[in-house]
Amino acid sequence: MGVPISQMFTVATYVLKQKLSGRKRYPLVLMLEPLFRCNLACAGCGKIQYPAHILKAQLTPEQCFKAVDECGTPMVSIPGGEPLLHPDMPEIVAGLVARKKYVYMCTNALLLKEKLHLFKPSKYLSFSVHVDGQKEHHDLSVCREGGHAIAMEGVRAAVAAGFRVTTNTTLFDGADPNSVRAHFDELTEAGVEGIMVSPGYTYDKAPDQQHFLGRAKSRKLFRTILSNRKKEWKFNASPIFMEFLMGKKDLTCTPWGMPTYSIFGWQKPCYLLQDGYADTFQELMEAVEWAKYGTESGNPRCANCMVHSGYEASGVNYTFDSLKGLMQTAKAIFSSKYEDQGAMKLLNEWKPEGRGPLVQIGEKPTPVVVTTSVNETVSNAAATSVAGD
Ligand code: SF4
Repeated sequence: MGVPISQMFTVATYVLKQKLSGRKRYPLVLMLEPLFRCNLACAGCGKIQYPAHILKAQLTPEQCFKAVDECGTPMVSIPGGEPLLHPDMPEIVAGLVARKKYVYMCTNALLLKEKLHLFKPSKYLSFSVHVDGQKEHHDLSVCREGGHAIAMEGVRAAVAAGFRVTTNTTLFDGADPNSVRAHFDELTEAGVEGIMVSPGYTYDKAPDQQHFLGRAKSRKLFRTILSNRKKEWKFNASPIFMEFLMGKKDLTCTPWGMPTYSIFGWQKPCYLLQDGYADTFQELMEAVEWAKYGTESGNPRCANCMVHSGYEASGVNYTFDSLKGLMQTAKAIFSSKYEDQGAMKLLNEWKPEGRGPLVQIGEKPTPVVVTTSVNETVSNAAATSVAGD
């Protein structure tokens, strides 16, 4: 598994403490979003469609530290937007490392090479580079010709400089499992510590609405990709979450497992939905009616969700919930190759559908007009231009 022993130990100790104290809902990873502006405008992204003044706003290092101290998770993920556009990102990361938090700083790597010298390698810091697939697939996904080459260059530069490097891959309808497996080979060869893979969420603000995966299609795709896996591949994810993606486990969503803090406050109820904000972490935990969320709730916005921010923490919780969970996880880590002849047949017979560039590479995505909470409208193309300011 692509996670160092010291990190596994810290997480295991933290989760066991929560269980022994009888805490039913506990956070595991803080999703710290210090800004929304980005230097890309990906077709499947639902995070960057804000008015200019929101895209210019950012959390201060002190606000970041307060949020981290408030919720107390052992791990902090920094998505966005593009965190490397934040001028204080090195200070934020250094402050979190000083607090002994395991930090995953997500980046599209466009600026990684030139900003690498601003960070110090540490067992607490990992760059989590967004690479959605092999060249053609990734370039389509991020709507930028050459995006893949830059991302892989960033990965190699960070590995060579002694940093921990993981990757995150989001899959959409039309993904070709043979190509995804070749992508895993490429990432492994580049020296990444662990690969994270997840289906995309059906953001209603994303420019490309036609390629999100439903649950049945997700399970078939992930079973085909992740069965008969190569021993060289290392994954940066709970093995139980990965079995959930493959259709081998049922998990219920634990949206409180990865709470989100941004310039708006604590987001209700999860990283993906925006049903208002709380001023404090405690208020978030107390004010959200959790029964209204998750696939079982009947909430249509949750119906197709299998995203890691809802279910990764569920997988970790499953592991520590019983001896059976621990044994199954140990088996998954140490011995399971997930041999599956049916999946092999699917893989061999898979006909690539071709995702079809709804958004032409090199052009801005089709403008989508979004009504924001502050009652303004903006197109994502305009947002992109502000992000590039
Ligand atoms: S199922 Fe997905 S969208 Fe719904 S609460 Fe969980 S993480 Fe959020």
